[in-house]
Amino acid sequence: MILDITRGIQNKGIEVHLCLEEKWEKDQWRGDTLTYISPVAFEGSYLITEDTVVVRGRAKVSIEASCARCLESARLDVAADIEEAYIRDRNGELNQQRSDDEQYTYSGHCIDLTDAVRSALLLELPSRILCKEDCRGLCPVCGVNLNTTTCSCQKDPARRNPFSALAELLNEDEEV
Ligand SMILES: [Zn+2]
Ligand SMILES: [Zn+2]
Repeated sequence: MILDITRGIQNKGIEVHLCLEEKWEKDQWRGDTLTYISPVAFEGSYLITEDTVVVRGRAKVSIEASCARCLESARLDVAADIEEAYIRDRNGELNQQRSDDEQYTYSGHCIDLTDAVRSALLLELPSRILCKEDCRGLCPVCGVNLNTTTCSCQKDPARRNPFSALAELLNEDEEV
């Protein structure tokens, strides 16, 4: 996602509106593959002062991934606020000097916003992506999808497993 800052260079110190859209394909996240099913939209502004460009705005995208419980496809809309400073790299020196920290740099009249937008969006994802909040998941015994099918495995888990029945009894004792 490339931002052309030509207008900003001609208008230093003045906030310039920006509105970008780009189609991304797939991504890796916590060992899972997710698909960007809408273009990534980023709207905001940028401001150039001296050798620094401050970019602010809000990014939005819809993604698809497998549900952490039932493995069916799950869709969600993600939005993230972004505020990032990019420092002008005059002749490739900054990259070497600053390789330790995560300062973004730019040169010429283009800034690549991809890293900042992508990290901000991924940070907004929930720790577990679910197809719906009350997804019932897969039966741990026979593996059917409990959202769409019923099975007899778990009708009476206490009877099936004497230890869980015992645990329930112990809990009841504690409450008394
Ligand atoms: Zn699910
Ligand atoms: Zn089952």
